[in-house]
Amino acid sequence: MAYIQFLGAAGVVTGSKHLINTDGPSGKQSIQVLVDCGLFQGQKEWRERNWADLPIPAREIDAVILTHAHLDHSGWIPRLVKQGFHGPIYATSPTIDLCSILLPDSGHLQEEDAEFANRHHYSKHHPALPLYSMQEAQQCMTLFRPVSFGEDKQLSSELSFRFVHAGHILGSAMVEISLTSGGNAWRLLFTGDIGRVHDNHAQPGCLVCPGPAEGESCDLLVMESTYGNRQHPHDDPKPELAAFIRTTIARGGSVVVPAFAVERTQKFLFLLKELMETGEIPRVPVHTDSPMAIKAVHIFLKHEEEFKDDTKALIAKYGSPLHWPNFHFDTTQEDSKKINESRYPCIIVSASGMVTGGRVLHHLAQRLPDPRNLILFIGFEAPGTRGNTIKNGEHEVKMFGQVVPIRAQVAALDQFSDHADTPELLQWLRTFKAAPKQTYLVHGEPAAASQLRDTMTKDLGWNVHVAAYKEKVKV
Ligand SMILES: [Zn+2]
Repeated sequence: MAYIQFLGAAGVVTGSKHLINTDGPSGKQSIQVLVDCGLFQGQKEWRERNWADLPIPAREIDAVILTHAHLDHSGWIPRLVKQGFHGPIYATSPTIDLCSILLPDSGHLQEEDAEFANRHHYSKHHPALPLYSMQEAQQCMTLFRPVSFGEDKQLSSELSFRFVHAGHILGSAMVEISLTSGGNAWRLLFTGDIGRVHDNHAQPGCLVCPGPAEGESCDLLVMESTYGNRQHPHDDPKPELAAFIRTTIARGGSVVVPAFAVERTQKFLFLLKELMETGEIPRVPVHTDSPMAIKAVHIFLKHEEEFKDDTKALIAKYGSPLHWPNFHFDTTQEDSKKINESRYPCIIVSASGMVTGGRVLHHLAQRLPDPRNLILFIGFEAPGTRGNTIKNGEHEVKMFGQVVPIRAQVAALDQFSDHADTPELLQWLRTFKAAPKQTYLVHGEPAAASQLRDTMTKDLGWNVHVAAYKEKVKV
């Protein structure tokens, strides 16, 4: 019999990795496919799993099918290749483009971490090594093969797949798999991460095709559960955002927005442009201080086929964000330092979104002590990160080995999530043509996954199980 084994994102929201092993007709070899190949992130206990071998040799895996570019779904690919995998990696064309910037950057960070550990002698390994290098990440890009949405891709006589829209980030897909096992035909659906359902106010600034594909049907569903016990605010954040910016500028302060360089930064820039054009905020300089964010803008502009109509209209009217007046894209260290010298009100959007590193550190170190400034969070700040410390209203934070007092105003807008919340997930599931025989929940903290299981069982009457790490289920 064929089976699925959950090798990551089980009981946790990172490390997505699901192995499908087909039994194959007698005499024929089975095929082994990984859906997603993500990095474990966050606490040490999880990150250590990145060093564990898979239960089967990497060279015996025939192919990887990738749902989207986020590192918790793609970031273990260079490690898999390093361990001997040499098959094709199937993904949509925008996902491949985004991986070409995210994976080498991840390799670069791995190298920096290893170097830091060696310098401070805190690793039990001597010398500490990176999980993979920037160069290794660049090399694995040759294995990527683009597959269009809706295109049927046959991988063996028993297994074929196609991508449908997930509406989560640019290029994001769900994977429908057709599988023959034990003489029966099966349809499997792997959701990857599920975007917000179609609702303009619920996803402010969303640039790409909204909403996961509706009217699905499958025998077995493997579904994310990140927001299985939570609801996002559904009001329009624009009036509040405009008021925050106006008040800050009126008192002579600047706004610093720590934001993830890919997707979140682009969304936010479009929103600022809209607010400036409607006169809701003054036309102060906007600095996007993240080299990766600039590369991501180029990738966005290349994939117009994914844009929502209002994004297309905005670009048709105002052209590329890279040429908007007042919008500065700072690529060099010198450009970045010049922003520090500016004493006039401005808006600075910089990574990393959780203030764990990157250029945003310099901007915050300089602007946190001044009560005229505003630090605005538009994303999730994981516990233990500096972003979380600042967002929680602490009075000081450590940066560059020094204690920085927090006197600036701190605010957060929670409407920007790229994940459907519980009511939206249920709204999407109700569009299914029939209930799947079995649903497995992955990609959720235990409390979120188990609450979603209970809700789906009660409200929909579906057969739902929370997947466990390394659990094997028969198909
Ligand atoms: Zn994601």
